[in-house]
Amino acid sequence: MGIDSQQQPDSRKAETQTIVSMCGICPGGCGVRAHLVNGQLDRITPLEDHPRGIVCTRGVHSREIVYSPDRLKHPLKRAGAKGEGRFARISWDQALDEIAQRLKEIKARYGPELLPEFPLVFNSGARLQSAFRSQHLNIPGLLKMQPEPNVLINPQDAEARGISDGDRVYVKSLRGQVPFRAKVTEWVVPGSVEVNVGGGGPLQPEAWREANANYLTDMDNRDPISGFPVLKALLCEVQKVDIP
Ligand code: SF4
Repeated sequence: MGIDSQQQPDSRKAETQTIVSMCGICPGGCGVRAHLVNGQLDRITPLEDHPRGIVCTRGVHSREIVYSPDRLKHPLKRAGAKGEGRFARISWDQALDEIAQRLKEIKARYGPELLPEFPLVFNSGARLQSAFRSQHLNIPGLLKMQPEPNVLINPQDAEARGISDGDRVYVKSLRGQVPFRAKVTEWVVPGSVEVNVGGGGPLQPEAWREANANYLTDMDNRDPISGFPVLKALLCEVQKVDIP
């Protein structure tokens, strides 16, 4: 993380800082510069050398999101029936203890057998510069930027699986397997992968058409309000395949 700061010459002596960081508003994780005025976030702008190099509309409104009076700053526990909308504040210790207990119960009930078979945490949804989700993946000029869908995998995990940058691979989960092109990069942490979203449309070229990341996610386990899949709770494996 880099910080540039400078004193403003005006009478208010506003101090500005620029911090190299990552937007955390959605799972996209865009690299950004956060511009601070007197220690308060003023705006974020794209980090030019980040692979995505964008800030979306939500990122443009990051100041409103960060300082929203409705922003959750502490754990809440449901205090009524599901959907009733009643919650009570609890301590971080209580929240962590209850989550740990729940995880132990799930492990006891279902077993940990899935982990050896699918040891990587599945992430998806990062924005591409050349497409908007499944749209624009049939536009030749934009396809030149990324002709095929990638799975981003850390060099440690790639080496352990005999995978080199550019290899064809299957991303596999309990629900099936989908072909991608491996992009070996430090941009993802060891133990997790980032799978390009947007494939599966009928007008897309074959590589994208075959790469519908939704086949790997759990359609029965979604946020009840937004319908968003529970991405970071999914496990997967990446396997090199002998296809060009
Ligand atoms: S896509 Fe938008 S909200 Fe998501 S990380 Fe990037 S800038 Fe932030």
